[in-house]
Amino acid sequence: MSEPAARTRITREPQLAVYDRDAAYRILDEGFVCHVGFTLDNQPYVIPTSYGRRDDNLYVHGSAASRMLRNMKQGIPVCITVTLIDGLVLARSIFNHSMNYRSVVILGTAEVVEQQDEKIAALKIISEHVIPGRWEDARQPNERELKATLVMRVSIEEFSAKVRTGPPIDDEVDYSYPTWAGLIPMETIARSPIPDPRLDPARRVPSYASNYTRRR
Ligand SMILES: Cc1cc2nc3c(=O)[nH]c(=O)nc-3n(C[C@H](O)[C@H](O)[C@H](O)COP(=O)(O)OP(=O)(O)OC[C@H]3O[C@@H](n4cnc5c(N)ncnc54)[C@H](O)[C@@H]3O)c2cc1C
Repeated sequence: MSEPAARTRITREPQLAVYDRDAAYRILDEGFVCHVGFTLDNQPYVIPTSYGRRDDNLYVHGSAASRMLRNMKQGIPVCITVTLIDGLVLARSIFNHSMNYRSVVILGTAEVVEQQDEKIAALKIISEHVIPGRWEDARQPNERELKATLVMRVSIEEFSAKVRTGPPIDDEVDYSYPTWAGLIPMETIARSPIPDPRLDPARRVPSYASNYTRRR
């Protein structure tokens, strides 16, 4: 269990706080979309993007022209969040409605992954994080594509996770209120892959696509 820094200590509903690194990494490994928050000229922006994790590093990538990445490159502070929705929590009162979720917040700064082999390795980490098995099966980035891509590494040092599970919690007086209460469980499920219209019809769907799951 890591000690939370002052900025990542959960004060609202602290019983939902998780500071265990492995537990936070399980959330990061199940997700594949993060939101990167940063401030420019006093205006906060929160930009969704894909990511990959390896060890204590989170990688994001994109066009070298991306404003988010260009500014991350300057070392501005960022806040990266990942959220998994496990269900809607229907309480008897609207006030006590909630969601079951697992979320992670990381504070830090990013560094550019400059060196060519590390850059390719980081791109593979992102690719394998989103869809394991795809990297080896697809054409890998060429020189031109690598030049056009910026890859950033954020060291996962200051972080927090918050997890809500279980049924609604109503005020005692509301338990007799005549309405339905409970959970609508939710998860991210992949449907059957749809072949590209220009695909050779003889080509079979690879198992990493037909068996795709985010469950880890
Ligand atoms: C899917 C979802 C739905 C939610 N719906 C609501 C809602 O409708 N209303 C509402 O008030 N809150 C909601 N929350 C909780 C919300 O994320 C905040 O935790 C809560 O609002 C308290 O915010 P705060 O700034 O007072 O947190 P504080 O406890 O003051 O935050 C201090 C530090 O705790 C950490 N932290 C706070 N929240 C989280 C988090 N969710 N995950 C990881 N670390 C965190 C951060 O490091 C932050 O810097 C929801 C969360 C999720 C994931």
